[in-house]
Amino acid sequence: MAGFLDGRTAVITGSTSGLGLGYARALAAEGCAIMLNGFGEAAEIEATRAGLENEFGVAAYYNGADMRDPAQVTAMIEDGMAKLGKVDILINNAGMQHRAPTEEFPPEIWDDMLAVNLSAPFHATRAVLPQMKARDWGRIINTASTNALVASPNIVGYTATKHAIMGMTKAVALETIRTGVTCNAICPGTVRTGLSEHRIDTYAAEKGKPKEEVLEEYLEQKEPYHQPMGRFITIEEIAAAAVYLCSDAGAAMRGAAFTVDGGWTAR
Ligand code: NAD
Repeated sequence: MAGFLDGRTAVITGSTSGLGLGYARALAAEGCAIMLNGFGEAAEIEATRAGLENEFGVAAYYNGADMRDPAQVTAMIEDGMAKLGKVDILINNAGMQHRAPTEEFPPEIWDDMLAVNLSAPFHATRAVLPQMKARDWGRIINTASTNALVASPNIVGYTATKHAIMGMTKAVALETIRTGVTCNAICPGTVRTGLSEHRIDTYAAEKGKPKEEVLEEYLEQKEPYHQPMGRFITIEEIAAAAVYLCSDAGAAMRGAAFTVDGGWTAR
């Protein structure tokens, strides 16, 4: 299938489900070859990988690197360069979330969260930059969050790592400012994926109501979450932001926090 990303290649972390898979589908639809990453059932992952090839006619690979391990992150990028020939686009998207007041937040989860949400993007970015700079073209996209810009209570690790990745995004953007390599962050509001469903489950349990009955009030509650638009953001709406950043039209987006958040950060 012909598209404006014909001949381009992308490594997308955490792309076996949710937003990552949404990015993979949207880029593949434009002709981009893909390396998937993330956890899941082997048969399901293989079906997803083969599905991308069949539906979009692009090459698709999978690397199961655990983003908590820097050596595996670097090896994944090397594998990407070997299988795809180069890495034009890196989407640092794998992420984890945990909800607890700070004094009860488990230190071992804090460490894992730092590793997955912040250090893995650093190691992957570090590994892709030289060849992107050599070709004078590249797109580095970090999936941040509204919590990169504003805090929410009881998710200290998430808020801290997402704020930090915004800083990393700006630093890398300035280092590459006179090149054809761009680095930006997408800051989604609430999208229904595995990562957000448990927040909704907790809210429904607290209210003692079935989940489908609390969706609207969940979005409208003032704290800890608030999405004034009154509906969930779709995976496709987030993926479209990445497609734009990968296009020529997105070339002047540098170090931006690209919010797609239903007005969350506008209040
Ligand atoms: P998800 O749970 O569907 O996807 C998370 C992905 O990360 C999965 O593919 C999972 O296998 C992978 N992953 C987790 N830990 C990993 C590890 N150690 N090594 C390799 N892969 C790992 O959730 P999602 O909502 O699609 O999350 C994707 C990103 O979007 C995250 O960075 C998240 O913080 C961010 N985000 C999500 C929302 C939302 O409302 N869903 C809002 C803002 C930001």
